[in-house]
Amino acid sequence: MTAAKRCRLLWLVPTAVVIAIGSATLFRYQGILLPVRIASGSMAEQLWGPHRLVTCAECGFVFRCGLDAEAPLQLATCPNCGFARNDLSRAVLHDGQRVVIDRWAYVENAPRRGDVVAFVDPVNASELAVKRVMGLPNEAVTIRRGELFINNALYRKSLEETKQLAMLVYDDAFRPTSKRQLPLRWEGDGDATGWQATRDGYRWTPKNENVPADDWLMYRHWRCYASPHPRIEESPVADNYAYNQGLSRELHEVTDLLLSCEVLLADAGEAAFLIHDGRESFILRLAATTRSAELYRGEDALERAVIPNHIDPRDVTIEFGVIDNQLLLAINGETLIRREYIPLDGPLQPTSRPLGIAGRLGECSVGKIRIYRDIYYLNAFRGDWPWAAPAPLADDSFLVLGDNSPLSNDSRHWPESGLHRKLLIGKVLMPRR
Ligand SMILES: [Zn+2]
Repeated sequence: MTAAKRCRLLWLVPTAVVIAIGSATLFRYQGILLPVRIASGSMAEQLWGPHRLVTCAECGFVFRCGLDAEAPLQLATCPNCGFARNDLSRAVLHDGQRVVIDRWAYVENAPRRGDVVAFVDPVNASELAVKRVMGLPNEAVTIRRGELFINNALYRKSLEETKQLAMLVYDDAFRPTSKRQLPLRWEGDGDATGWQATRDGYRWTPKNENVPADDWLMYRHWRCYASPHPRIEESPVADNYAYNQGLSRELHEVTDLLLSCEVLLADAGEAAFLIHDGRESFILRLAATTRSAELYRGEDALERAVIPNHIDPRDVTIEFGVIDNQLLLAINGETLIRREYIPLDGPLQPTSRPLGIAGRLGECSVGKIRIYRDIYYLNAFRGDWPWAAPAPLADDSFLVLGDNSPLSNDSRHWPESGLHRKLLIGKVLMPRR
């Protein structure tokens, strides 16, 4: 079918079907593309139900608070800077997001892992739901410490899959402007540092060009959720959802992190990027002269990639992540390194300073610094103890999970976990971000 025909069909069906309406109503419309409106926040932050759109009064960061779990005092805590007195009653109320379901998608092809699908709720046939396929037929799925295991092996996401599920932890473009002189979240090491904050990032100037030592700009994380602790008290990253302001539950430390930033290097300049996985540090070293990107585990070199010739190594956007026990590196959107590793033994000891950026030899600037965390799956009781599907998924059955794990009612809650293919309505065409 041509794109033009598909678009025309869009106009033939109503544009305000609510996802939670009775299925009979939905089936009256026989279009291949079916516009619907999301009615709950179980897929937030990727899809939104009815919500209030809040602009933080201190840092200007814009975030959504779902009506499913509204804050009782109508005060919302900014997930970016932790300011806790954003007035929800002044925030604009928005309907659930509109999306389009492609009913043709699974007529011949089976759903793939990561697809967002619409289906008739197997527990309540009068309702429709939207979730993400994470388990395929005949697979045994478990959840342990926030991670998904398929047939007892940790499921390792690609960088693209990671980005579909990632939650923004801190965007340095939105620094708080409080009169209380809050410290910067990225900070150099005392007076000796060559790092200086600029309007849209940080610039490093070598104090002694002949000393090739790393000069670290370290990130410190604050609790950016409602808490009796002072905002600037440091804390490891947690599985917080700004969308669920009114939901009271235990939070869990998250060590799977992704750093994204733009880097400008002088001809002789080098930059390094550090991520701590809760047990040890991994370092990425970028050098313009040798066009190299090298990964280190502590002092040990792990892998080296050459920056392709069509990329100017002095002006790059990097995405560097430690996700699902693997190291991921993309430069200008091209994945150059994806390397699995076996984590060290011993208890996890997450730090409140899990990320760093270092300059070396020549000048270096970084901007558009964003930190993301991986999704952290919970069991059906919003706890952290392991969960296992009661049996491997049957033929033609899929395991579906909501991206908003604390709020979602999905395979974890159903007696048989699996969603039979006959209940599928179609594939949700995800809006571009
Ligand atoms: Zn803020």
